[in-house]
Amino acid sequence: MSHDELMDYDQVLALYEPVIGLEVHVELNTASKMFCGCSTAFGAEPNSQTCPVCMGLPGSLPMVNAKAVESAIRIGLALNCSIAARCRFARKNYFYPDMTKNFQTSQDDEPICFGGRVEVEAENQRFTIDIERAHMEEDAGKSVHVGGATGRIQGAAYSLMDYNRGGVPLVEIVTKPVVGAGALAPQVARAYVSHLRDMMRALGVSDVKMEQGSLRCDANVSLRPIGSATLGKRTETKNINSLRSIERAVRHEICRQGAILAAGGSVTQETRHWHEDGSYTSPGRSKENAEDYRYFPEPDLVPVAPSPEWVEQLRATIPQPPAVRQAELRQAWGLTEAEMRDVVAAGAVDLIAATVEAGATPQTARKWWLTELSRQANAHGVDLESLAITPQAVAEVQRLVDDQVINDKLARQVIEAVLAGQGAPAQIVADQGLALVSDTSALQAAVDQVIAENPEVADKIRSGKVQAAGALIGAVMKQMRGQADAAKVRQLLLAVLTGR
Ligand SMILES: [Zn+2]
Repeated sequence: MSHDELMDYDQVLALYEPVIGLEVHVELNTASKMFCGCSTAFGAEPNSQTCPVCMGLPGSLPMVNAKAVESAIRIGLALNCSIAARCRFARKNYFYPDMTKNFQTSQDDEPICFGGRVEVEAENQRFTIDIERAHMEEDAGKSVHVGGATGRIQGAAYSLMDYNRGGVPLVEIVTKPVVGAGALAPQVARAYVSHLRDMMRALGVSDVKMEQGSLRCDANVSLRPIGSATLGKRTETKNINSLRSIERAVRHEICRQGAILAAGGSVTQETRHWHEDGSYTSPGRSKENAEDYRYFPEPDLVPVAPSPEWVEQLRATIPQPPAVRQAELRQAWGLTEAEMRDVVAAGAVDLIAATVEAGATPQTARKWWLTELSRQANAHGVDLESLAITPQAVAEVQRLVDDQVINDKLARQVIEAVLAGQGAPAQIVADQGLALVSDTSALQAAVDQVIAENPEVADKIRSGKVQAAGALIGAVMKQMRGQADAAKVRQLLLAVLTGR
């Protein structure tokens, strides 16, 4: 647990203005790595996808992956960036076990994309986020810490290295300091990353799975006294692996820094780690010497010089901006603006679109994702898209409801079973005998029995108090373990008691 003192959020906001900056790493979905032919497939045997180039062995020579450059340019165009006519890679020198080359091939003062801007919406307000740059680089390997309780290096007995990820192409997107969001800074940070995720998915350049690390966000947060023009000391929070965590991590840093500043202290400029379990940040390495990477141009790679014709060809492949697409979907789905905002805020646009594509109506698709599945996501502390259910399965559940195989209540039971990994919806209904009883004689027997057991209520209904039927319908449903169509039960019951 964290022992940091936190200040009440509203109190901080009365004294200070939060300034945020976001660095998002997008892992590209190219088949091979940035500078060699190794596969980028996720989840392979450790160190089975390496070669002399990505391990940096003497005499090996890198070559730029053209597809990765193409993706980087398309990302830049979608972010309204300028594309450099000529740019170079640079060596970012550092020693760490996750990088056997002792430098990361990145871009320094010559990024391929620069000077962009995107618009996001949070709490009905529009914010413009200025993009400083988007540059190409390679990912590092992965440390696996063994023998500790937490899987972190602290307390581990030893560490293993998996270099399969080393050399996988990344695009790092860096914003300019975002000012003016005020109390909405945490929501704006979330809306921005959500926007990027939708954009990357629409571009088809990345899997954008935050929990697998193919979309990673570092959040810079600083506070300055209201009215001050100078930026305060900032912290950079890493390890944020879901949209909801971005919002919570930014908010936490605002409250933590507020407490330090209000007590007359000063914020240490450092990297911090987000702890999902306890919802707090803890210090990582100090960033006082952040500029010590001794960048220099990579001598083994020629400059990248995309022709204007190629850039224009790629511009033609940029999908419509998420806001435009959302406006079109809102029309197609027949939603009000407020309803659509809820869908966007829940991160459910693509999920609903895919569910509709799989055969559900917009109304039912939206119903499942915004009610039952949102409830489940909250209960599990994950984003909607991390739930273990596909849009196709949701559409299948709705099809079973439409075909009157199950009712809404049973559908929720089926969804829970899908989330628990018990199979596909139809399979679960079959395996667990969840289908509605369509056999009229079984229903009739249950109806007759309930009438016999409740003579007084039955008499009321006979004498015309039809509204009393609810209690008996409930009793029949209970006896059928919920596996009956309530409308049909009502029909049978009234036929017996009123002859209608
Ligand atoms: Zn390789």
